[in-house]
Formats: sequence, structure tokens, C-alpha cells
Amino acid sequence: MSRYTIDSEGFYGEFGGAFIPEMLVPNIQELQENYENIINSEAFKKEFISLLKNYVGRPSPLYYANNLSTHYNTTIFLKREDVNHTGSHKVNNTIGQVLIAKHLGKKYIIAETGAGQHGVATATVCALMNIKCKVFMGAKDVERQSSNYNRMNMLGAEVIPVTSGSKTLKDATNEALRYWIANPNAYYLIGSAIGPHPYPDMVTKLQSVIGDEIKQQLTNEYQQNKPNYVIACVGGGSNAAGSFYSFLEDEDVKLIGAEAHGKGEETGKSAATLNLGKKGVIHGCMTYLMQNKDGQIKEPYSISAGLDYPGIGPLHAHLYRTNRAQYIPVSDKEALKAAYFLTQKEGIIPALESAHALGVLEKLSFKKKDIVVVTLSGKGDKDIETYIKNSVK
Ligand SMILES: *Cc1c(COP(=O)(O)O)cnc(C)c1O
Repeated sequence: MSRYTIDSEGFYGEFGGAFIPEMLVPNIQELQENYENIINSEAFKKEFISLLKNYVGRPSPLYYANNLSTHYNTTIFLKREDVNHTGSHKVNNTIGQVLIAKHLGKKYIIAETGAGQHGVATATVCALMNIKCKVFMGAKDVERQSSNYNRMNMLGAEVIPVTSGSKTLKDATNEALRYWIANPNAYYLIGSAIGPHPYPDMVTKLQSVIGDEIKQQLTNEYQQNKPNYVIACVGGGSNAAGSFYSFLEDEDVKLIGAEAHGKGEETGKSAATLNLGKKGVIHGCMTYLMQNKDGQIKEPYSISAGLDYPGIGPLHAHLYRTNRAQYIPVSDKEALKAAYFLTQKEGIIPALESAHALGVLEKLSFKKKDIVVVTLSGKGDKDIETYIKNSVK
């Protein structure tokens, strides 16, 4: 067994597992017992691969960024998850999990969403597969992200504004879990490599198409057998996990995660979970999380809604603890600067989340012949207002 895969209880080293209320045990057990067989079945693979190709538009390009490479005096490739249908990597996971739900005979899907990206990806795939979909979204987020709220409604999803607590993602998650306990026939579709076992491993495997393609494209299109660096942003950690997975055993490939550092440590407004957090349980798994002295979850902050999460997937906690991967904090300002730089150098407007991965390029020094792959997790259309308001031209 690899040092970097889960054991039979769903632990990566000391992180992971399933810390869940008794009422959820049957649901989680059903998934634990079946997900690997389903993912490895010919029927699943055939449908998954076909949808990734014809619906999502995979393989996504591995783009040699000439202007960026010249500037940093190295060789930079961008893995273009931004060109996927619905504009990010999230759709890889939602297609996979909706197929798994169908194999389990589930009649409808529930999901939580913060900024609405995961909700839109879920509503999209549920429309495609003619399956009922209920999305829980904090009432405050419904207001802040009204265009995604409207998209989900147009796609036919039932969006439930959650008015408890701070009316944001954490409250939406609590409400979805409460609903799931009362309605065990639903399938709960988690949007990142987080949550109780088997979600982190399942989501990582569904997203590993990203790293598999990087490997193939480097070999076939550029005659390189592996990169020196793979860089990706980490919120819950799914696009990074999917980018890293194929390279975990290649110890000479440096794996770099970009954590959102918000306004910086001294302000207390950050979401750099591994750099600033401590070990604890959040949303069903043992991992790192942002907490105060009393062990209470500390509200994270990032300009980017997709990285504004107080926990991190357990695989990343393990890769951090074992030094297999390095996690670098990138501030709001640094991410904004990187977004403007990419836009003006390469004509690609990245998602604010992805801009954090690009921010790492300023912080490392590369050799001329290094092969550096940066995963561009999503496109920036949703962030244009923020970019204009915070222009760093
Ligand atoms: C949601 C999102 C992220 C963060 O989620 P991960 O699970 O860490 O990948 C990053 N980029 C984009 C574009 C997103 O929509």
C-alpha cells in the first residue's frame, strides 16, 4: 500500500476517517461499501469517460504559456480546467457522483453550496440526467451570488435559502446534513475532497482525471515524462488532489498547494488552513482547521469565495504533515496581481481561486529547464466585478 492512499478506515496517516452522528451511519456505510466497485465497473467507466469527453469537452488542453515562461525564465504549462463546461473542474466530480448515485438507485440529489459554483455544477448534471436536485444555500449567499442562484433555478433545481446562523456555507452544510438524516433516500453530493470517508478518496479519484491527462499530454505532446512542479490552489482541496494524485509516487515531482492568505496573518483575516490551523474534526473528518484558542472554528476570510473554507481535505493534511507537498500562502493582493498579469500576458482571465495558484510563481525560483504545470481550476467571468473593483493594472 502507498503511504499516500487511505487505509481500510479511510485514514491518510492520522487524517481522515468518518466522524459522523449515528443517524448517518447506514448512509455512509452504503457508500463506503460500494463506491470503489462502482467506480471500477465497466458500465460506470464507459459513461463517465464518454460524458467527460462529449459533454465537458475533455481532455482539457495543457497549454504551453510562452509569454509567462519568458517572464519567469522557465517552462510553464497551464492545465485548462477553465474551459470545461460550467467553467471549472467541479463538473468532473458532479458527473461522477451523480452516476454513482444512479448506480446506488438513489432518486434524488442534495447538495450544499457557498458561492454557488458547486450548486450550479450539480444542478447542471441533474438536469442532464433527469434527476431531482435540492441545493441548500445560505440566505446571505443567495443575495451575494444572485446570478448563480438564478442559474440553478433555471436549470430546474430547488434552491433552499438557509436562514439559520450566519446564513452562509457552514449553515447550508448543517441544513443539508439535517435533511439527509431525515431523508436517507437522497444522495448527498459533496463538492470537494472533504467530509467523512469515503468522500475525500472518492472525489480525489473522480478528479484524478486532471493529473492523468497532465501526465499523458506531457508525454505525448511535449515528449516530457514528468513535470518538476505541479501547482494548484486549495480550498477544500479537490482540484489540487486531482492534479497531484497521479504524481504522488513520483517523489521528484514537487507538489505545491496555494492557500488563500486573505489580508494576511497579522489581520486575522486569512484562510491558510495548513499554515495557520490546528488538527481537529470538521465536517466528518480529522484534518487541519482554523480554530481559536478554545478550539472553536474560526471564520476564515479570502477575497475568493471558493477558497473561503475553515478546513481542508485530509489528503492535504497528510501530504503537509509528511512533507510530500508544500503549501504556500498567497494573499488577496498577490492573487489579484497574478490574475491581471495572466490576463494581460496570455489573454486568459482566471478565476480568483486559480489566481492564487498563479501567485506562487512569484514566490519560487525555477530553473530554465524546469517544467512547471499550474492547474487553472476555473474561469474568471464570475469574478469580473471583483477584479474591476480591485484593479491593480
Ligand atoms: C470551488 C473552486 C475551487 C476550490 O475548491 P477545491 O475543492 O479546493 O478545488 C477552486 N477553483 C475554482 C474555480 C472553484 O470553483
